[in-house]
Amino acid sequence: MQNTDILVSGGGIAGPALAYWLGRAGFTVTVVERAPAPRPGGQTVDLRGAGRTVAARMGLLDRAREVSVEQNGVALVDGKGRFTATLPVDAFGGEGIVSEIEILRGDLADLLYQASLPGTEYLFDDTVTALEQDDDGVTVTFEKSAPRRFGLVVGADGPHSAVRALAFGPEADFVRPLGLYTSWFTTTLPLDLGGWYQMYNAPGGLVVSARPGRLPGEVKAGLSFRSGPIAYDRRDVAAQKQIIADRFAGAGWETPRLLAAMADAPDFFFDPMGQVRLDRWSRGRVALLGDAGYCATPLTGLGTSLALVGAYVLAGELAATGDHRVALRRYEQVMRPYVMEAQKLPPGGAGGFAPSSALAIRLRAASMRSMTRWPMRGILAAQFAKAGNIALPDYPLPAMR
Ligand SMILES: Cc1cc2nc3c(=O)[nH]c(=O)nc-3n(C[C@H](O)[C@H](O)[C@H](O)COP(=O)(O)OP(=O)(O)OC[C@H]3O[C@@H](n4cnc5c(N)ncnc54)[C@H](O)[C@@H]3O)c2cc1C
Repeated sequence: MQNTDILVSGGGIAGPALAYWLGRAGFTVTVVERAPAPRPGGQTVDLRGAGRTVAARMGLLDRAREVSVEQNGVALVDGKGRFTATLPVDAFGGEGIVSEIEILRGDLADLLYQASLPGTEYLFDDTVTALEQDDDGVTVTFEKSAPRRFGLVVGADGPHSAVRALAFGPEADFVRPLGLYTSWFTTTLPLDLGGWYQMYNAPGGLVVSARPGRLPGEVKAGLSFRSGPIAYDRRDVAAQKQIIADRFAGAGWETPRLLAAMADAPDFFFDPMGQVRLDRWSRGRVALLGDAGYCATPLTGLGTSLALVGAYVLAGELAATGDHRVALRRYEQVMRPYVMEAQKLPPGGAGGFAPSSALAIRLRAASMRSMTRWPMRGILAAQFAKAGNIALPDYPLPAMR
């Protein structure tokens, strides 16, 4: 590319991964992140299939293993905490619902951020407010920094992407809501999880989960519920906590204690789940990456892999040609089949994850018990392997400067 200055909006998973690979290819990269510092929150995310291969090519796998969270697997529990079904981590060779390398999202974000630092300029606490493209580049206006010119702008700013809104159109045109809201937070509530990611379903489409964190005594909690669209202020955390408290009032298992712990949680995160679907991931000199372009939702367990693989492919294609149009077309050709496979929801979709009735909850447990038995075990193993994998091209990306 003639103009080698690239702006990446979003310093989550996809953004720093792209900055790392672009740095290796010799581009000059600026990352703008709305938060004042790298965002630490989140539960464990899976590092498997092609996502794990990219992490290995970045030289991060050993470090990822060091900070990964030991878990036995996932267990469904009833109101009294009795296991009704389990899925051990090794059930599908470490490639299943709980994968062999489960790493806290914040730990992975930090690894990627550190890896990207040499040569990358970060603008924290800022955001893009306008994009103006012409034949030679993009003039970018920021909320706080002075306007600047870039050869390419990449939106890696998550499912509510500002870049996508500016260059492609309103969020409602591209986000398909799953009718599911989810919240996550960290607590040190003394729960005896025994190393299991425990999940409790209550009638009404409520899901309460608790899984071990990395630090001793740390618990990662999740509360999700099914609902049609609800109006709320995305910046008002207290109001969001109240929504959760109201929805889960009266639910069994450890819910009352978790709700009490939620009140003080510093890293509370609340969001509707929705898949992002676009016919094209670029418009001229503006491209989308990760959740901004093809969010699959946590139900698939593949969002992180999509972000890592997308970053590698986008940087590789840009490095391979001097023409951004060719590179962006190739990026799309390589990624599209992988994204389509990864966006397939598990059986039952949102209803399978958050059943509404007591009968459907019992069926969910029965279905999970059958997963590790013949013939489902073989069928699912093939599905997991297919969804998580892609034949990764080898790009001419030199070692880090
Ligand atoms: C705090 C947090 C916790 C999460 N926890 C989980 C989890 O527990 N389980 C799970 O499966 N997935 C979780 N996710 C989503 C997961 O990280 C992504 O699905 C996946 O890794 C793809 O990464 P991404 O970089 O495309 O998006 P993200 O990881 O969402 O990163 C997007 C980044 O863009 C930034 N951003 C947003 N808007 C703007 C803007 N206007 N200007 C500049 N920057 C902007 C955000 O602050 C964020 O840092 C979480 C995301 C966040 C932000």
